[in-house]
Amino acid sequence: MNVSDSEKIVSLLQGAGYLPTQDSSQADLIILNTCSVRAKAEQKVYGCLGRYKGLKNRNRRLILGVGGCVAQQEGERLLEKVPYLDIVFGTHNLHMLPELVRAAERGERRTEVAFLDNEKRLDLFPAAAAEGGVSRFVTIMQGCDNFCSYCIVPHVRGREISRSSAEIVNEIRKMVDKGVREVTLVGQNVNSYGLKSSGEPDFAALLRRVADIPGIERIRFTTSHPKDISAPLIDCFAELPKLCSHIHLPAQAGSDAVLARMNRGYTRSEYLGKIALLKAVRPDIQITGDIIVGFPGESEEDFSQTLSLMEEVRYGDLFSFVYSVRPETKAAEFPDDISQQEKQERLDRLLALQRALTLERNKSFVGSRQQVLVEGFSKRGDQLSGRTSGNRVVNFAGDPTLTGSIVEVTITRAFQNSLFGEIIIF
Ligand code: SAM
Ligand code: SF4
Repeated sequence: MNVSDSEKIVSLLQGAGYLPTQDSSQADLIILNTCSVRAKAEQKVYGCLGRYKGLKNRNRRLILGVGGCVAQQEGERLLEKVPYLDIVFGTHNLHMLPELVRAAERGERRTEVAFLDNEKRLDLFPAAAAEGGVSRFVTIMQGCDNFCSYCIVPHVRGREISRSSAEIVNEIRKMVDKGVREVTLVGQNVNSYGLKSSGEPDFAALLRRVADIPGIERIRFTTSHPKDISAPLIDCFAELPKLCSHIHLPAQAGSDAVLARMNRGYTRSEYLGKIALLKAVRPDIQITGDIIVGFPGESEEDFSQTLSLMEEVRYGDLFSFVYSVRPETKAAEFPDDISQQEKQERLDRLLALQRALTLERNKSFVGSRQQVLVEGFSKRGDQLSGRTSGNRVVNFAGDPTLTGSIVEVTITRAFQNSLFGEIIIF
C-alpha cells in the first residue's frame, strides 16, 4: 500500500514540475511517506527528520514534508515538534500535495489531515504514475473496518472505501498500453471490496472484470482477511487461469484464545478450513502469511500452537512481527505482560522454523517446470529474474529482450530466498 502511495506521490510531484533524484543532498523537496503500524516504524520518522535538518540548514529553499500514517496520527503536533517541517498531509490528502507544495514555496507551513467521505472518493484515489514496468500495484480500496485489537490502521486510514471499478479497469488498461503484464490489486482488506458501495461489483466479480482485460496475463491481490474468503472468490481460483497460484492470508496467531483477543473473527480450524478449500481447487497454491508474537497474554502453549499452525500450513514465506503497543487500539488496554527478551526468543524460534519451511518448499521445486514472468535483470545483474505464479523468485540465464514475457524454466537449484533454473528453448 505504501509503495503504491509513494508512486502516486512521485507522479503528483512530477505534475507539479519536480523531477526525482536518488541523492537527498540534491533535493529541493523531500517527502517522507510514513508507516505507524509498529512503534519502530514511527520512531524511524523522527530519526530521518533529524538527519534532514542538516540539509535544510544548507539549503534554505528545501521543502520538507511528512505524509501517510504518522502524519495522520500526529497532525498539527508534527509541525510543533519539528519546527523546520513545512508540510503534513494525512492518508486521505495525497491529492492535495501539489497545492501544499505551492504554499510551502510561498513560505506557508500547512497541515491537511481531514478524512474524506464516500462522496469524495474520486479524490481518494489519485491515478497511478503513467509509466510502464512489467508488474504494477493498483489500489482498489482504502481504509479498514475490522478493528483487530492490536491494529492502528482503521484509526489512521479511516473507514473502508472502495474505488470505482470503472476507474480501476481504466487504469489497468492504460498500464497494459505501457507494457504492464501483471497487476497486484491492493487494499487492507480486498475481500470486502464493493460490499459497502452501491453499484459496485464484489471482489470476485472485480477479479473477473480485470481478467477480461486483454493483455493482462497475471493477477495478484493483497491483503485478504481469512474471515472474508468467500465461495465466489474460491470459484475464481478454480476458473480464472490469470489469477496467480498465491494467496497472502495472515493468520496472526495459531491459538483460538489469542485470535479471539485479537478480534480476528475466525478460529484456527476455520482458517485451516479456508486453506483446504483453496487447495482443493488450486492444489499448487502457495500460502504466505503474517504472524504477531508476544501478543498480551500469549502463553508458551499459545505460542506453540502458532508454531504448529506454521507446520500444518507449511507457509512458503512469512512476515513475523513482535507485538508493539499502538495508541487508540483496544489491545493498548491489555497488560503488555511478556518481557522483551521472551518476545525476542519466541521470534527467533519462529524465524528458525520458517527458514526451514521456506528452504524445504524451495527445494520441492527442483526438477519442476515453472512459468516465469520475466521482470528484468536479477539483483546481481548478470542473469534474468522473474517470478513463478506462486510468487517464488527465479534467476536464470537469458536474453534481456524476454523481459515482460512468460517463459518456461526448469528449476535446477534451490536457495533460501530464490530458485535457479534453465530456460526451456522450444
Ligand atoms: N490488513 C492486513 C491484514 O489484516 O492482514 C495487514 C495490515 S498491517 C499493515 C500488516 C501486518 O502488520 C499485520 O498483518 C500484522 O501482522 C502486523 N501488525 C499490525 N499491527 C501490529 C502491532 N501492533 N504489532 C505488531 N505487528 C502488527
Ligand atoms: Fe489492521 Fe485487522 Fe484491518 Fe488488517 S484487517 S488492517 S490487521 S484492523
